[in-house]
Amino acid sequence: MAPGPAYSLDIMTLETVFAAVHSLEEVTLSSLCDLVARPSVAGATEELAATAALVAEMAGASGFKTEIWDTPGQPVVFADLPGPPGSPTLLFYGHYDVQPADPISEWDTPPFVPTVRQGALFGRGAGDNKGQFLAHIMAIRALLSSGGCPVGVKLLIEGEEEVGSPNLDTTVRSHAEQLTCDLALTADGPLHDDGRPLVIFGVRGLLMLEIRATGASHDVHSGNRGGWAPMPAWNLVAALSTLRDADGRIAIPDFYRDVLPPTEQERQLMDLLPVDPQSIRTELGVDRLPGAGERSPWEALMFEPTLNLPGLVSGYTGPGMKTIVPREAIARVEMRLVPNQDPDAVEESVRHHLRGFDLEIHRLAAVPPSRTAADCPYVEGIVAALQATSGQPPLLRPRLGGTTPDHVFTQILDVPSLLIPYGSPQMFHHAPNERIRLADLYRGTRSTAAICVVLGKASAAAAE
Ligand SMILES: [Zn+2]
Repeated sequence: MAPGPAYSLDIMTLETVFAAVHSLEEVTLSSLCDLVARPSVAGATEELAATAALVAEMAGASGFKTEIWDTPGQPVVFADLPGPPGSPTLLFYGHYDVQPADPISEWDTPPFVPTVRQGALFGRGAGDNKGQFLAHIMAIRALLSSGGCPVGVKLLIEGEEEVGSPNLDTTVRSHAEQLTCDLALTADGPLHDDGRPLVIFGVRGLLMLEIRATGASHDVHSGNRGGWAPMPAWNLVAALSTLRDADGRIAIPDFYRDVLPPTEQERQLMDLLPVDPQSIRTELGVDRLPGAGERSPWEALMFEPTLNLPGLVSGYTGPGMKTIVPREAIARVEMRLVPNQDPDAVEESVRHHLRGFDLEIHRLAAVPPSRTAADCPYVEGIVAALQATSGQPPLLRPRLGGTTPDHVFTQILDVPSLLIPYGSPQMFHHAPNERIRLADLYRGTRSTAAICVVLGKASAAAAE
């Protein structure tokens, strides 16, 4: 028995599989066109159910046993392909719902009429996320057509990612046994800005609260009633001003209590990430980055929580003026959380901290952060697979600044989870003229196939 996984690349096997991916390119493209033609906009229930059925049909045609799981929201597609005895099982996560296409007038071709031009397929959902999860499905079809899939593969493709995956926790909990796996993988979002492949070891979480201060039952005349009427805008401003100190540190007691500092290895990975503060300043149109100091800008983006005010409204700021005491003032407070912060505990700290003010606080969204150790045993093999596919080594990024429901894998299923995006940085996701470059679609398919080959071979070698 070998001491551990040996990630040697079997070039011949890879070439056979890549040839199979190549011979499936036409089917891959027409399948993606069928998916993109479905206007599965988040919330469009009938269209979402039809799209789930289509995804299940495609997975079935690619060799999976499929199921559609009902949820209180939109259905979840589950697909299963057992691997050889002793091989690891990989779980690929994706989503078939898409962002609304508005403003439609800004699309060069209609969002749900898939169109190939400039070497890319244009259409809402082409990159986010239909093309990327299709790459996983087609990779398995290619493997099965060229000798077999050397690992077990499961698919979990949901229809509510674009609205914050409100039913994913419960779905994963109630199907935890069927979802048993060794490693979860997600292809979503773009490659690194310079086009290099990326492996991401977790995400920041999110807590969005709405804070509302109310006064009189209606806006009142600020002369006739000013001095009598309570002033909710001041109440809200006073409350918000206690959330941060003069240096911009979050001043809620216990807020940082559970924050995990980066490990030595995560710091090393961070130091290898390219960074150009000047280009960040140019992009943002600012002269300085707040709080950056001597630190790498990556540190604030990956390892530190934020407290942002994405919305703040009261009274009137339109043309002319209104002499009123507004009846209410509303703020949205958005926190990006880092491991090991718990959204429930953070919300409790915020409520406790603001208890002296007369405010209503509502939770709008809560997603825990996730973290997979940088020395996760599968990473070496995945790096070799991506290098073989792209001709360059991937960048290893400890954390995504944004939020995905990655915690369902790391916390509920308790497995390592990695994000390996396949789309180009210019895929215009969430914007008009969304697209996926065909080269990225096929490279993504080869990447998934190579990952399966390399991890399957490693487990076979370890068993010898
Ligand atoms: Zn999206």
